[in-house]
Amino acid sequence: MKTEDYKVGIYLRLSREDERLGESGSISNQRELLLNYIRDNNLLFVDEYIDDGVSGTTFDRKGFNRMIKDCENKRINMVITKDTSRLGRDHIEFGRYVERYFPENGIRYVAVNDGIDTEKNSSANDMLVFKSAFNDMYVKDISNKLRSSLYTKKRNGHFVGAYAPYGYKKNEENKHELLIDEEAACVVRRIFNMFINGISIHKICDILTKENIPTPSMHKNMKLGQNNIHYGVWATRTVNDLLKNPTYIGNLAQCKQKKINYKSKKRIHNKQENWIISENSVIPIIDKETFELAQNIFKSNKYRSGKNTITDNLLLRGLVFCKECNHTIGFRAHKQVTKKCGEVTRIYGNCNYWAKRKQQKVCTPHSIKYNDIENIVLNNLRDMCKKYINEKELESAFKNTDKLNKKKESIKHEIIKLDNDNEIINKKIDLCYNDKLEGNITLEMYKRTYNKFILEINENNKKKEKLLKTLSDIENKKNENSNNYTNKIKEFLKMDNPSRSLISSLVEKIEIDEDNNIDIYYKFRLI
Ligand SMILES: [Zn+2]
Repeated sequence: MKTEDYKVGIYLRLSREDERLGESGSISNQRELLLNYIRDNNLLFVDEYIDDGVSGTTFDRKGFNRMIKDCENKRINMVITKDTSRLGRDHIEFGRYVERYFPENGIRYVAVNDGIDTEKNSSANDMLVFKSAFNDMYVKDISNKLRSSLYTKKRNGHFVGAYAPYGYKKNEENKHELLIDEEAACVVRRIFNMFINGISIHKICDILTKENIPTPSMHKNMKLGQNNIHYGVWATRTVNDLLKNPTYIGNLAQCKQKKINYKSKKRIHNKQENWIISENSVIPIIDKETFELAQNIFKSNKYRSGKNTITDNLLLRGLVFCKECNHTIGFRAHKQVTKKCGEVTRIYGNCNYWAKRKQQKVCTPHSIKYNDIENIVLNNLRDMCKKYINEKELESAFKNTDKLNKKKESIKHEIIKLDNDNEIINKKIDLCYNDKLEGNITLEMYKRTYNKFILEINENNKKKEKLLKTLSDIENKKNENSNNYTNKIKEFLKMDNPSRSLISSLVEKIEIDEDNNIDIYYKFRLI
């Protein structure tokens, strides 16, 4: 169910304990807390039910009975109280309502200060576990609130951390926005470049350390004005994390670490699938192809063991597959002595699956000389590129993307306008809420205006969702027509020694069959 589908009744009750506690448990305080909750959660507020000064030990109460009636005639489908003891102190009666009556009648029940919400399977819902100290609850309440509002900020692509990720700096006018820190961004670009051109993470660390390039933490300290004489040693973990961080292609990744809970300050690494990633929310430092290529190298490295610098740097490494079993073709260097040239190193490929399980005969050797594949692929690629570049069709593709760009801009504009509108409405709600607190308007008036505003906000959010969808559709279309490949092809034609990254951005994969036939799959459409 969506939040706006919840029709809320709040139940307020004053008990004898409250009288002893004085102001803190008063009806108006309970009301404020619950109205706040409704507001924070964008719920529809329908009515309030009050039992003032009645003992909580009996469920025969006027306000309570009226509330149950409204549940029955579907006027409300959600009940909120300050804590569980508001509903009743008799655990058996209480349990009957929370565990049976509400669920059976489709009523959601929330006890704000006890963290109980029948819609969520929180352990707090277990009626055997009662929250003990008020203090504890209070701290927990604050902590949950803080976290959930940070979470929304993160979802919206606002940066909320204390320090910007390496390569970025916080905008001084808006600390939730990240700008490029050119000095560090250069290092990030260099690291990606080295990596996709076959330099190992170990080697990258060596190079950066030798050149006295400050490590990310040193860089941070220097920016904070602490001048250290030494620049630090680059750790493989640092480079590894950096190469996997999608923030660099514009998709801000947050929640990479999390606190265990509100009581502990300890942070643990969050699993990658739990990161909050907001796409296209920061200025990219690295292009998508380079990033994907780096991720593919990580994947292919997983299956390799041992080190061989010659085969590590092969132009086609990771792109060649066995046609019969789909496993990779592994390349190994063999030293050979020939009459003509003396000792030479030749590189041969074999199906990895066959090589690992020679006994089981799961595949055949697929032996092939590496240089043969490379020559064929490069020649073929050059031919393809010449054909491709001459095609007129490209022109229309360019025009197409230009049109799409214009449309994209106008949609972005509309989204900003909707956000601004919502902000204005929220301010209006705040004003109205203050009027209510100061007694300028009645609860009834507040309720009416508040609900009207919330409906407007929900309406705007729906519009925004649609626009975002269109925007991502355009993005996908644009990628298809992207002129990126033409640039790559031009680059390729000019170059005598194409780089690994260039090849990988044009070639999807190369398949070798038993008879040494070579199939090349391109990333661009063949015409
Ligand atoms: Zn095979």
